[in-house]
Amino acid sequence: MAAPRPEKLLCPKPEGLYCAPGDFYVDPVRPVERAVITHGHADHARAGHGSVLATPETLAIMDERYGRGHARAVQAAAYGETVRVGEVDVRLVPAGHVLGSAQAVVECKGLRMVVSGDYKRRRDPTCPPFEVTPCDVFISEATFGLPVFRHPDDRGEIERLIRSTRQFPDRAHLVGAYALGKAQRVIRLLREAGWDRTIYTHGAMDRLNALYQAHGVDLGPLAPATASHPTKFAGEIVIAPPSAIADKWSRRFADPLPVFASGWMSVRARARQRGVELPLVISDHADWDELTRTVKDVAPGELWITHGREEGLLRWAELNGVKARALALVGYEDEDEEDDDG
Ligand SMILES: [Zn+2]
Ligand SMILES: [Zn+2]
Repeated sequence: MAAPRPEKLLCPKPEGLYCAPGDFYVDPVRPVERAVITHGHADHARAGHGSVLATPETLAIMDERYGRGHARAVQAAAYGETVRVGEVDVRLVPAGHVLGSAQAVVECKGLRMVVSGDYKRRRDPTCPPFEVTPCDVFISEATFGLPVFRHPDDRGEIERLIRSTRQFPDRAHLVGAYALGKAQRVIRLLREAGWDRTIYTHGAMDRLNALYQAHGVDLGPLAPATASHPTKFAGEIVIAPPSAIADKWSRRFADPLPVFASGWMSVRARARQRGVELPLVISDHADWDELTRTVKDVAPGELWITHGREEGLLRWAELNGVKARALALVGYEDEDEEDDDG
């Protein structure tokens, strides 16, 4: 039997990528009857679907954010497990983006397409690494799809934060970090760098921090940043959602030093705009080198780009003899941008 054309298996629609032979959408931006969800960020995981197929971790995150009953039915698929949906086999494999994040491998009659969701290639102590899956069509994001985006080693960025606490022991270091994924990664990286003191957190992160810990990510001693503190948190590290850093919540701290952990912090104007004194370039998305390396590693017959800065990656694909097209899906943005993800 001849393999179907890729557009017959996955096709861009206003709701998101639609799979007709399985009658489901991947990461639909509107409520649909059947959804496969790659990860828990709000632009990919929405409430109100008929049924949801996702990893157990992503389902736990959705329960936490939306409450049980966000969908009429849920089905958990562990990494690597194959689930038959209609005429299609669906398998979720690690994407290395946040806890539970997955690529959706969709296969029908010998045609295999991989929807990467959001991903990165570098090590993240809070989730398993991205798994390369050879396929006919690789569907990638391109949040940082320009050669100017090259993220440094995150350990060096964390070292800069620790150094700053020594250099400014009278100032509270307020680290803006997206509440799902970035916050827990920054905390784990601090622990790996030897920061064993209590880390103070904004109340909006408590439940996700607890969820990560329940899934075996050891965050070490945490305490709410609301309690009174003898030195108003001078020299301490406080993690908060990026939006809290600039508002009146931050006034309780001793001479607060605003820090922001985001891939966008490589753009100086963005750091300045937000009043960030210590920009940390830490991203949960692939940078330019990771994107191009991934396309080389996966070596797909075709590359489809969902969203982001697609022009750069399209041009690169053309120069490297990879057939590529931009889908320009709307409704996805990265977490850090939404808060004013990266
Ligand atoms: Zn995401
Ligand atoms: Zn996203």
